[in-house]
Amino acid sequence: MPISVVTGGAGFLGSHLTDRLLREGHQVLAMDNLITGNERNLGHLGGNGKFRFLRHDVTQFIAVEGPVDYVFHFASPASPIDYLELPIQTLKVGSLGTHNALGLAKAKGAKFLLASTSECYGDPLVHPQKEDYWGNVNPIGPRGVYDEAKRFAEAMTMAYHRYHKVDTKIVRIFNTYGPRMRLRDGRVVPAFIGQALKGEPLTVFGDGKQTRSFCYVSDLIDGIYRLSQADFHEPVNIGNPMELTILEFAERIRRLTGTKSEIVRKPLPVDDPKQRQPDITRAKKILGWEPKVALEDGLRETLLWFQNHLEAPRSP
Ligand code: UDP
Repeated sequence: MPISVVTGGAGFLGSHLTDRLLREGHQVLAMDNLITGNERNLGHLGGNGKFRFLRHDVTQFIAVEGPVDYVFHFASPASPIDYLELPIQTLKVGSLGTHNALGLAKAKGAKFLLASTSECYGDPLVHPQKEDYWGNVNPIGPRGVYDEAKRFAEAMTMAYHRYHKVDTKIVRIFNTYGPRMRLRDGRVVPAFIGQALKGEPLTVFGDGKQTRSFCYVSDLIDGIYRLSQADFHEPVNIGNPMELTILEFAERIRRLTGTKSEIVRKPLPVDDPKQRQPDITRAKKILGWEPKVALEDGLRETLLWFQNHLEAPRSP
Protein backbone atom coordinates (compact mmCIF):
# COMPACT_ATOMS: atom_id res chain seq x y z
CA MET A 1 0.00 0.00 0.00
CA PRO A 2 1.60 3.33 -1.06
CA ILE A 3 2.25 5.87 1.71
CA SER A 4 1.70 9.54 0.84
CA VAL A 5 2.47 12.77 2.66
CA VAL A 6 0.26 15.71 1.68
CA THR A 7 1.46 19.12 2.88
CA GLY A 8 -1.38 21.60 3.11
CA GLY A 9 -3.62 18.58 3.65
CA ALA A 10 -6.30 20.57 5.50
CA GLY A 11 -6.70 23.05 2.66
CA PHE A 12 -9.21 23.15 -0.17
CA LEU A 13 -7.12 21.16 -2.67
CA GLY A 14 -5.02 19.23 -0.15
CA SER A 15 -8.12 17.75 1.49
CA HIS A 16 -9.70 16.73 -1.83
CA LEU A 17 -6.39 15.19 -2.90
CA THR A 18 -6.24 13.30 0.42
CA ASP A 19 -9.71 11.88 -0.26
CA ARG A 20 -8.67 10.76 -3.73
CA LEU A 21 -5.45 9.13 -2.51
CA LEU A 22 -7.35 7.23 0.18
CA ARG A 23 -9.80 6.02 -2.48
CA GLU A 24 -6.81 4.87 -4.57
CA GLY A 25 -5.66 2.74 -1.62
CA HIS A 26 -2.92 5.02 -0.25
CA GLN A 27 -2.16 5.63 3.40
CA VAL A 28 -2.08 9.39 3.90
CA LEU A 29 -0.28 11.62 6.38
CA ALA A 30 -1.73 15.12 5.98
CA MET A 31 0.26 18.06 7.36
CA ASP A 32 -0.95 21.59 7.84
CA ASN A 33 -0.17 24.51 10.15
CA LEU A 34 -3.83 25.59 9.76
CA ILE A 35 -3.13 29.25 8.96
CA THR A 36 -5.44 29.02 5.96
CA GLY A 37 -6.38 25.32 6.10
CA ASN A 38 -9.09 23.99 8.38
CA GLU A 39 -9.30 20.62 10.13
CA ARG A 40 -13.02 20.54 9.35
CA ASN A 41 -12.03 19.72 5.74
CA LEU A 42 -10.71 16.39 7.08
CA GLY A 43 -13.36 15.84 9.76
CA HIS A 44 -15.06 13.07 7.75
CA LEU A 45 -11.83 11.00 7.93
CA GLY A 46 -11.85 10.65 11.73
CA GLY A 47 -11.62 6.93 12.54
CA ASN A 48 -10.08 6.02 9.17
CA GLY A 49 -7.06 3.89 10.10
CA LYS A 50 -5.29 4.75 6.82
CA PHE A 51 -5.28 8.46 7.60
CA ARG A 52 -3.28 10.62 10.02
CA PHE A 53 -3.12 14.37 10.55
CA LEU A 54 -0.10 16.24 11.88
CA ARG A 55 -0.22 19.92 12.73
CA HIS A 56 3.12 21.10 11.40
CA ASP A 57 4.60 24.14 9.69
CA VAL A 58 6.55 22.72 6.75
CA THR A 59 8.93 25.69 6.70
CA GLN A 60 10.45 23.80 9.66
CA PHE A 61 12.24 20.47 9.17
CA ILE A 62 9.73 17.73 8.30
CA ALA A 63 10.32 14.57 10.32
CA VAL A 64 8.42 11.45 9.21
CA GLU A 65 9.16 7.99 10.53
CA GLY A 66 9.13 4.96 8.24
CA PRO A 67 8.78 4.73 4.49
CA VAL A 68 7.15 7.35 2.25
CA ASP A 69 6.31 6.72 -1.40
CA TYR A 70 4.88 10.09 -2.46
CA VAL A 71 5.22 13.67 -1.22
CA PHE A 72 2.55 16.04 -2.51
CA HIS A 73 3.52 19.64 -1.66
CA PHE A 74 0.28 21.61 -1.49
CA ALA A 75 0.93 23.90 1.47
CA SER A 76 0.58 27.61 0.69
CA PRO A 77 -1.78 30.52 1.12
CA ALA A 78 -3.39 30.66 -2.32
CA SER A 79 -5.83 33.53 -2.55
CA PRO A 80 -4.82 37.13 -3.26
CA ILE A 81 -6.12 38.44 0.08
CA ASP A 82 -4.34 35.66 1.94
CA TYR A 83 -1.00 36.43 0.43
CA LEU A 84 -1.51 40.12 1.05
CA GLU A 85 -2.15 39.28 4.70
CA LEU A 86 0.54 36.59 4.95
CA PRO A 87 3.30 37.72 2.57
CA ILE A 88 6.26 36.35 4.53
CA GLN A 89 4.57 33.01 5.24
CA THR A 90 3.72 32.74 1.53
CA LEU A 91 7.33 33.33 0.52
CA LYS A 92 8.61 30.95 3.18
CA VAL A 93 6.33 28.03 2.38
CA GLY A 94 7.10 28.29 -1.35
CA SER A 95 10.84 28.42 -0.72
CA LEU A 96 11.82 26.84 2.62
CA GLY A 97 8.73 24.62 2.64
CA THR A 98 9.47 23.32 -0.84
CA HIS A 99 13.09 22.71 0.13
CA ASN A 100 12.02 20.68 3.18
CA ALA A 101 9.38 18.74 1.23
CA LEU A 102 11.95 17.91 -1.47
CA GLY A 103 14.44 16.95 1.23
CA LEU A 104 11.87 14.52 2.66
CA ALA A 105 11.25 13.02 -0.80
CA LYS A 106 14.99 12.63 -1.38
CA ALA A 107 15.63 11.05 2.03
CA LYS A 108 12.80 8.54 1.55
CA GLY A 109 13.34 7.86 -2.16
CA ALA A 110 9.77 9.12 -2.67
CA LYS A 111 8.17 10.65 -5.74
CA PHE A 112 7.45 14.37 -5.37
CA LEU A 113 4.66 16.48 -6.84
CA LEU A 114 4.69 20.28 -6.57
CA ALA A 115 1.44 22.24 -6.65
CA SER A 116 2.50 25.19 -8.77
CA THR A 117 0.26 27.78 -10.35
CA SER A 118 -0.83 29.70 -13.41
CA GLU A 119 0.48 32.73 -11.48
CA CYS A 120 3.91 31.68 -12.79
CA TYR A 121 2.72 33.27 -16.04
CA GLY A 122 1.93 36.56 -14.23
CA ASP A 123 -0.09 38.95 -16.39
CA PRO A 124 0.48 36.85 -19.51
CA LEU A 125 1.44 38.29 -22.88
CA VAL A 126 0.86 34.92 -24.55
CA HIS A 127 -2.67 33.57 -24.75
CA PRO A 128 -3.73 30.85 -24.02
CA GLN A 129 -0.82 29.96 -21.77
CA LYS A 130 1.39 27.04 -22.78
CA GLU A 131 3.91 25.51 -20.43
CA ASP A 132 6.85 26.81 -22.47
CA TYR A 133 5.83 30.44 -21.87
CA TRP A 134 8.12 32.00 -19.24
CA GLY A 135 5.65 34.54 -17.95
CA ASN A 136 5.32 38.23 -17.18
CA VAL A 137 5.63 38.60 -13.41
CA ASN A 138 6.19 41.74 -11.35
CA PRO A 139 8.56 40.52 -8.63
CA ILE A 140 7.92 43.42 -6.25
CA GLY A 141 4.14 43.80 -6.60
CA PRO A 142 1.71 42.50 -3.97
CA ARG A 143 1.23 39.21 -5.87
CA GLY A 144 4.99 38.79 -6.26
CA VAL A 145 5.23 36.99 -2.91
CA TYR A 146 3.15 34.14 -4.30
CA ASP A 147 4.28 34.20 -7.92
CA GLU A 148 7.99 34.36 -7.16
CA ALA A 149 7.77 31.79 -4.35
CA LYS A 150 6.13 29.35 -6.77
CA ARG A 151 8.64 30.14 -9.51
CA PHE A 152 11.43 29.50 -7.00
CA ALA A 153 9.65 26.29 -5.97
CA GLU A 154 9.63 25.11 -9.59
CA ALA A 155 13.34 25.94 -9.97
CA MET A 156 14.15 24.07 -6.74
CA THR A 157 12.07 21.09 -7.86
CA MET A 158 13.88 20.88 -11.20
CA ALA A 159 17.23 21.21 -9.40
CA TYR A 160 16.37 18.25 -7.14
CA HIS A 161 15.27 16.34 -10.20
CA ARG A 162 18.41 17.08 -12.21
CA TYR A 163 21.02 17.04 -9.44
CA HIS A 164 19.60 14.55 -6.91
CA LYS A 165 17.61 12.49 -9.45
CA VAL A 166 14.40 12.81 -7.41
CA ASP A 167 11.35 11.71 -9.42
CA THR A 168 9.52 15.05 -9.47
CA LYS A 169 6.40 16.41 -11.16
CA ILE A 170 5.06 19.96 -11.37
CA VAL A 171 1.42 20.83 -11.90
CA ARG A 172 0.48 24.41 -12.80
CA ILE A 173 -2.97 24.80 -11.34
CA PHE A 174 -5.40 27.28 -12.92
CA ASN A 175 -8.43 28.77 -11.14
CA THR A 176 -10.29 25.97 -9.38
CA TYR A 177 -13.55 26.00 -7.44
CA GLY A 178 -15.73 23.65 -5.47
CA PRO A 179 -16.82 22.61 -1.99
CA ARG A 180 -14.46 23.47 0.93
CA MET A 181 -13.33 26.82 -0.44
CA ARG A 182 -13.44 29.36 2.35
CA LEU A 183 -16.33 31.74 2.00
CA ARG A 184 -14.15 34.69 2.96
CA ASP A 185 -10.95 33.76 1.14
CA GLY A 186 -11.62 36.62 -1.28
CA ARG A 187 -11.56 34.58 -4.46
CA VAL A 188 -14.19 35.30 -6.98
CA VAL A 189 -16.24 32.08 -6.75
CA PRO A 190 -16.88 32.14 -2.98
CA ALA A 191 -17.14 35.95 -3.06
CA PHE A 192 -19.93 36.02 -5.68
CA ILE A 193 -21.78 32.98 -4.32
CA GLY A 194 -21.64 34.33 -0.76
CA GLN A 195 -22.83 37.76 -1.89
CA ALA A 196 -25.65 36.27 -3.97
CA LEU A 197 -26.84 34.07 -1.10
CA LYS A 198 -26.84 37.01 1.31
CA GLY A 199 -28.57 39.31 -1.18
CA GLU A 200 -25.56 41.64 -1.18
CA PRO A 201 -24.19 43.31 -4.33
CA LEU A 202 -21.74 41.27 -6.42
CA THR A 203 -18.38 43.06 -6.35
CA VAL A 204 -16.83 43.10 -9.82
CA PHE A 205 -13.27 44.44 -9.73
CA GLY A 206 -12.28 46.88 -12.48
CA ASP A 207 -14.37 46.84 -15.65
CA GLY A 208 -14.94 43.07 -15.32
CA LYS A 209 -13.44 42.44 -18.77
CA GLN A 210 -10.53 40.45 -17.31
CA THR A 211 -10.93 36.75 -18.00
CA ARG A 212 -10.50 33.53 -16.03
CA SER A 213 -11.17 29.87 -16.79
CA PHE A 214 -12.68 27.84 -13.95
CA CYS A 215 -12.03 24.17 -13.30
CA TYR A 216 -14.17 22.05 -10.98
CA VAL A 217 -12.18 20.50 -8.16
CA SER A 218 -12.86 16.83 -9.04
CA ASP A 219 -11.51 17.38 -12.56
CA LEU A 220 -8.42 19.11 -11.20
CA ILE A 221 -7.69 16.37 -8.67
CA ASP A 222 -8.08 13.74 -11.38
CA GLY A 223 -5.45 15.51 -13.52
CA ILE A 224 -3.12 15.76 -10.55
CA TYR A 225 -3.53 12.11 -9.63
CA ARG A 226 -2.78 11.08 -13.22
CA LEU A 227 0.30 13.29 -13.25
CA SER A 228 1.55 11.65 -10.04
CA GLN A 229 1.47 8.32 -11.90
CA ALA A 230 3.12 9.61 -15.09
CA ASP A 231 6.76 9.57 -16.10
CA PHE A 232 7.00 13.26 -16.96
CA HIS A 233 8.99 15.94 -15.17
CA GLU A 234 8.30 19.28 -16.80
CA PRO A 235 5.35 21.44 -15.72
CA VAL A 236 1.85 20.44 -16.84
CA ASN A 237 -1.07 22.88 -16.91
CA ILE A 238 -4.25 21.54 -15.34
CA GLY A 239 -7.33 23.70 -15.68
CA ASN A 240 -10.47 24.17 -17.69
CA PRO A 241 -9.97 26.12 -20.94
CA MET A 242 -13.53 27.50 -20.90
CA GLU A 243 -12.79 31.21 -20.58
CA LEU A 244 -15.21 33.87 -19.32
CA THR A 245 -14.96 37.53 -18.43
CA ILE A 246 -15.56 38.21 -14.75
CA LEU A 247 -18.65 40.19 -15.72
CA GLU A 248 -20.05 37.18 -17.61
CA PHE A 249 -19.19 35.06 -14.62
CA ALA A 250 -21.11 37.39 -12.29
CA GLU A 251 -24.14 37.07 -14.61
CA ARG A 252 -23.90 33.28 -14.47
CA ILE A 253 -23.92 33.37 -10.68
CA ARG A 254 -26.92 35.71 -10.70
CA ARG A 255 -28.83 33.37 -13.00
CA LEU A 256 -27.86 30.24 -11.10
CA THR A 257 -28.80 31.61 -7.69
CA GLY A 258 -31.78 33.64 -8.90
CA THR A 259 -30.53 36.53 -6.76
CA LYS A 260 -31.73 40.07 -7.28
CA SER A 261 -28.30 41.37 -6.22
CA GLU A 262 -26.92 44.23 -8.27
CA ILE A 263 -23.42 44.24 -9.70
CA VAL A 264 -21.18 46.95 -8.22
CA ARG A 265 -17.71 47.96 -9.37
CA LYS A 266 -14.69 47.96 -7.04
CA PRO A 267 -11.12 48.99 -7.88
CA LEU A 268 -9.05 46.42 -9.75
CA PRO A 269 -6.33 44.94 -7.49
CA VAL A 270 -2.73 45.78 -8.45
CA ASP A 271 -1.27 43.47 -11.14
CA ASP A 272 -4.55 41.56 -11.57
CA PRO A 273 -3.93 39.44 -14.69
CA LYS A 274 -6.05 40.62 -17.66
CA GLN A 275 -6.54 37.22 -19.24
CA ARG A 276 -6.00 33.61 -18.31
CA GLN A 277 -6.73 30.38 -20.10
CA PRO A 278 -4.76 27.14 -19.90
CA ASP A 279 -3.52 25.46 -23.04
CA ILE A 280 -4.07 21.82 -21.99
CA THR A 281 -2.57 20.14 -25.07
CA ARG A 282 0.21 18.67 -22.93
CA ALA A 283 -2.15 17.25 -20.27
CA LYS A 284 -4.31 15.70 -22.99
CA LYS A 285 -1.32 14.10 -24.66
CA ILE A 286 0.63 12.91 -21.63
CA LEU A 287 -2.15 12.17 -19.15
CA GLY A 288 -5.11 11.51 -21.45
CA TRP A 289 -6.84 14.11 -19.28
CA GLU A 290 -9.37 16.80 -19.97
CA PRO A 291 -12.04 18.35 -17.76
CA LYS A 292 -15.48 16.76 -17.76
CA VAL A 293 -17.61 18.81 -15.37
CA ALA A 294 -19.59 21.63 -17.00
CA LEU A 295 -19.47 25.01 -15.26
CA GLU A 296 -23.22 24.95 -14.51
CA ASP A 297 -22.97 21.54 -12.83
CA GLY A 298 -19.87 22.39 -10.82
CA LEU A 299 -21.34 25.69 -9.71
CA ARG A 300 -24.58 24.00 -8.65
CA GLU A 301 -22.61 21.59 -6.40
CA THR A 302 -20.57 24.46 -5.02
CA LEU A 303 -23.68 26.51 -4.36
CA LEU A 304 -25.29 23.64 -2.45
CA TRP A 305 -22.20 23.32 -0.31
CA PHE A 306 -22.07 27.05 0.46
CA GLN A 307 -25.78 27.05 1.31
CA ASN A 308 -24.97 24.56 4.06
CA HIS A 309 -21.83 26.35 5.25
CA LEU A 310 -22.72 30.03 4.96
CA GLU A 311 -22.33 30.79 8.65
CA ALA A 312 -19.03 28.96 9.12
CA PRO A 313 -16.50 31.37 10.69
CA ARG A 314 -13.20 32.13 9.00
CA SER A 315 -10.50 29.72 10.13
CA PRO A 316 -8.10 31.18 12.73
N1 UDP B 1 -12.72 39.42 -8.60
C1 UDP B 1 -13.84 40.23 -8.66
N2 UDP B 1 -14.59 40.36 -7.51
C2 UDP B 1 -14.32 39.71 -6.35
C3 UDP B 1 -13.18 38.86 -6.32
C4 UDP B 1 -12.39 38.75 -7.46
O1 UDP B 1 -14.15 40.85 -9.68
O2 UDP B 1 -15.06 39.88 -5.36
C5 UDP B 1 -11.92 39.28 -9.83
C6 UDP B 1 -10.42 39.52 -9.63
O3 UDP B 1 -10.12 40.89 -9.81
C7 UDP B 1 -9.82 38.65 -10.72
C8 UDP B 1 -10.80 37.50 -10.85
O4 UDP B 1 -12.01 37.93 -10.24
O5 UDP B 1 -9.77 39.35 -11.95
C9 UDP B 1 -10.34 36.22 -10.16
O6 UDP B 1 -9.93 36.57 -8.89
P1 UDP B 1 -9.50 35.49 -7.80
O7 UDP B 1 -9.16 36.25 -6.55
O8 UDP B 1 -10.56 34.46 -7.69
O9 UDP B 1 -8.21 34.75 -8.34
P2 UDP B 1 -6.98 35.16 -9.30
O10 UDP B 1 -7.28 34.46 -10.55
O11 UDP B 1 -6.92 36.66 -9.50
O12 UDP B 1 -5.81 34.65 -8.56
